[in-house]
Amino acid sequence: MGRGDIKQVVFKPTGVIPRTTWGKPQYVAVKDDRQRIETSRGCPNDCPFCYEPTELEVFPIPKIERNYVEILDMNFLYQPNILERIRELGKIKVNGKVVRYEEICGFDYRLLTQEIADELKRARFIKPRIAWDYSIKEQYKIKDAITQLTKTGYKTKDIMVFVIVNWEIPKTECDLKLDLMKIWNVKVGDCCYDGGYRHATPERWTAEELREFRAKCRKHNQLVNFGIDPEVSAGIQKHDKLYLHRIPCQETQLLPSDPKVDIQSIKKASGRVKFDFWPCMRQMTRRWGCNQILHRLIENVDKPDICFGKTDGIPSDIITVDKNPTMNPTHCLDWRDLGIFRDNQFEFGFWDPPYDKLYMPEYREIWRVCKRLAILHQLIYLAPKDGKRTHMIGVTTGPRMRIRCLQVFKKQGASA
Ligand code: SF4
Repeated sequence: MGRGDIKQVVFKPTGVIPRTTWGKPQYVAVKDDRQRIETSRGCPNDCPFCYEPTELEVFPIPKIERNYVEILDMNFLYQPNILERIRELGKIKVNGKVVRYEEICGFDYRLLTQEIADELKRARFIKPRIAWDYSIKEQYKIKDAITQLTKTGYKTKDIMVFVIVNWEIPKTECDLKLDLMKIWNVKVGDCCYDGGYRHATPERWTAEELREFRAKCRKHNQLVNFGIDPEVSAGIQKHDKLYLHRIPCQETQLLPSDPKVDIQSIKKASGRVKFDFWPCMRQMTRRWGCNQILHRLIENVDKPDICFGKTDGIPSDIITVDKNPTMNPTHCLDWRDLGIFRDNQFEFGFWDPPYDKLYMPEYREIWRVCKRLAILHQLIYLAPKDGKRTHMIGVTTGPRMRIRCLQVFKKQGASA
């Protein structure tokens, strides 16, 4: 499927004059730690919405001065001897270090082969993009191109697929493309053919369709990037509320529902708690949030004799409980049913639950078997009535990671 299957449209300028380098000297610019270059101009596809001429102009590879280079060619793969050109770029070093390349306008899937994909990866091209400008029927070829890229080692979430917006392809069809991209776990790059959303004139799509699709694409990329919806709060879920009252809590008595709340008693209660802040390193292993957290817990609080959740980096002499058998825990159990353990069997437990909710049934059961319990979560847990809070430690693991709180509770009578 290609442009020949689509009714030809006359490009109607909408007031935006495309910024083109055609007829000008080769574009090469350095800005801060990046360099932007052109290696060629021209594209044989002659899409009706595109101003790129069909004549090919090939430039010499300019002097590379930065380790991060953005290539602005509209159809980079259209150059003859493309494999040699990619290899040439891949050999360049700046200050003794390798160079990474990003082809901003993406690769033409019609010209992409497995050999080219392998060479792009070898030459350290990152964040590959491909354009899906025409019909949903192109799905097979787009899927093939994604397969070529993943086969050579690119992760799907690093691949972006361009979709043209406000053009002849209706929004309903672009919605279907977005559905497929969710299955493929690739990002979307939505481009208004007439100069970006800010300049787009609702011609073929309505203003409402443009707004809705923009929002859908933004959400799509969040889902691909984070694997969850980061805009849905991890607050208390309905399910958790059912269990909240079953954990008798002393701290609810301090909640200031009464304006004459006894501030002194709150201060007194806080005085028993040790507050701290641990700026830790970013995650270094795949299945452990951060090795440093457990090590700092051992150094500053105590060594747990049991961990609820088996992850990398837990010392082998600590018992682990996880319901996932592939993690090879000491006990393969659901946290809600720890019937094989006695009440207060363990001196000190560590629990790092998922952060989407409070997991109150699990909290109740884990608390039953531990005399002391450290919980790492983004939400603050209530101290049970038969225990008290001893530590509140803010934990960060680098930029763009959410702050968490390591909360330690101790049962009455348990030794600290
Ligand atoms: S394939 Fe891309 S660069 Fe080539 S004419 Fe179409 S939109 Fe323009």
